[in-house]
Amino acid sequence: MQKDVRKFGISDKRGRQNTSRDPYRDEAGLREPALCGECGALYRNKRWVLNPEEVAAVRKDSSLTEVICPACRKIRDGYAEGFVTLQGDYLWRREGEIRNLIRNEELRAMEKNPLERIIGMEASADALRIETTEEKLAEHLGRALHKAHQGELKVTWSDDHSLCRVEWRRDD
Ligand SMILES: [Zn+2]
Repeated sequence: MQKDVRKFGISDKRGRQNTSRDPYRDEAGLREPALCGECGALYRNKRWVLNPEEVAAVRKDSSLTEVICPACRKIRDGYAEGFVTLQGDYLWRREGEIRNLIRNEELRAMEKNPLERIIGMEASADALRIETTEEKLAEHLGRALHKAHQGELKVTWSDDHSLCRVEWRRDD
């Protein structure tokens, strides 16, 4: 969990389009259409989608390349780009509700980009920590939580924008 802490600068830049290269995004040599054998994500037209009907349609007239998608490989390796830390008494009073919100926001994000996933969600004595495959999902979770439950939100990006740390807390 702590392995990437040293990579974080103190910058809070907003240029999100300026993301650095993701070592798991190696689709350049990937033959389309390709299907992830673990989650069913389909790669076509240079994009990943989660759409079982489209997969069925594609199967009919072409042979699918079997792969493991970048998100499933990150989950397998525990490779996170987003780190979300939730704290405060309010969190524990509303923990079930907040966990549901986080899971629902993950599903919504996956509909747009199936590579945005939660790797893990773990409660310790002082915090609920969530790791995500994509840095943008961490930011999205923080902003959704802040919008629904207010509190204090802090979003920090690494200098090269490859990692995002989100801290949220509410005590009252
Ligand atoms: Zn997958």
